[in-house]
Amino acid sequence: MNNLKQRSIEIILENQAPSGAFVASPTFDTYNYCWFRDGAYIAYAADLMGKFDQTRKFHVWCADVIERYRDVAEAVILKLANGEPTTEHDFLPTRFSLDGVSVEDDWTNFQLDGYGTWLWGLSEYIKMSKDESLIDEIKPAIQLIAKYLIASWRTPCYDCWEEHLDFIHPYTIASLRIGIEAMKPFLPALKEKIDETTIEMDKFLTTEAIKDNQIIKMIPTKDHPTKKSLGVDASLIGIFEPYHLFDADSQITKTTIARIEKEILRENGGVYRYLEDTYYGGGEWLLLTCWLGWFYAKNGQKDKALQLKKFVESKADKNNQLPEQVFEHKLAPDYYEQWLDMWGENAKPLLWSHAMYIILDEVLK
Ligand code: BGC
Repeated sequence: MNNLKQRSIEIILENQAPSGAFVASPTFDTYNYCWFRDGAYIAYAADLMGKFDQTRKFHVWCADVIERYRDVAEAVILKLANGEPTTEHDFLPTRFSLDGVSVEDDWTNFQLDGYGTWLWGLSEYIKMSKDESLIDEIKPAIQLIAKYLIASWRTPCYDCWEEHLDFIHPYTIASLRIGIEAMKPFLPALKEKIDETTIEMDKFLTTEAIKDNQIIKMIPTKDHPTKKSLGVDASLIGIFEPYHLFDADSQITKTTIARIEKEILRENGGVYRYLEDTYYGGGEWLLLTCWLGWFYAKNGQKDKALQLKKFVESKADKNNQLPEQVFEHKLAPDYYEQWLDMWGENAKPLLWSHAMYIILDEVLK
C-alpha cells in the first residue's frame, strides 16, 4: 500500500471519536463536528479497507443521534403532512458535536443530503460486511429517516456547501433518492411509499434539473427564479458516481461531465466546487478531484483518473496530510485573506479528502 493511502486510513481511524463520530478535521476549529455527509463517505472508504468494527460504530452513532432528535423529525413530518409552513429551524441539523449534540452557532444548519448519503453508506456497509444484524439494531432510526426524507424532499434547503437555501439541489435529491431506495429491502412497510417517492423524484429531476441535456447546479423555485442556477457544480459528479442515476453513456452524463471538465477542472490541475466560489478564494478541492477520478475510473477512463490521483498525491504535505483545498490557482483570490483572518489556515487534514483518496485508489485497483 502506498504511504499516502496507509496514512489516510490511519488519519481516519485516529480521528474517530470514542463515540463513533468522525470529526471533519481535527485541527480546524470550525470543522470540529461530524457531518453525516462527510461521515458517510469516510465510513465508505474505511469499509473498502475492511474496517467494519469502526464503521459499525459510526453507523450506531448516527442512529443514536437520530433518536436524540426524534421529536424534531416527527414534528416536522407532521407539519409537512398538514401543509403547515416550515422554516429551516424546524428540520434536523446538518452537523453535530462528536457527542452527537446539535450546537447552536451562527452557521447554517439545514441540509437534507447528509441523511440520504448516510442511508446509502449504511447499505454499502451491509453489502460489504454482511452484518445485517445492524439493521435490526437501528431499524427505528432508519425508518424515521426514510419517513423524514419522503416528507421533506421537496423543501428547498442549503446545498452540500452550506449555501443557497432558496433552491433545490440536484445532488441533494439524488442522495435522498438513492438512500431511501437502498433501504427499501429492510423497510417493507414503506415499500409502496418509497416506490412512489422515487418515481416522483425521477420525474422531478428530469423535468426541473436538466437544461439542454445538462444537469444544472440548482433548481430555481417560485420565489427565486434566478438565472444563477444554470451553471454547473462539482457535487453533480455524485449523481453519476456513486449514485448511477443516469447511464454513463447517456447524453445527460456526457454533457454534464463535459461542462464540469470545461468550467471547473483546471488543466493539469484539480476540480473547483463551482465557478463563482469565493470560500477561501475558491481553491481546487482535493476531494472533488478524487471524485471526478472515481467517475473516470469506473467509466473506462483510467488514464484521466490516474492523472487526477497524481495531482492529489502531489498536494500531500510531508506528513502525508491532505487539506480541503489548494490555493495556487484561486478563482477569486481577493477573498482569500478575509477567510484566513476569520477562520485561520484552511482545514488540514480533512478526513473527507483522505476518504476520497482511498476510494479513488481502490477503484483504480
Ligand atoms: C463544506 C461541507 C463539509 C464541511 C466539512 C464545508 O466547508 O461546505 O460540504 O461538510 O466543510 O468538511
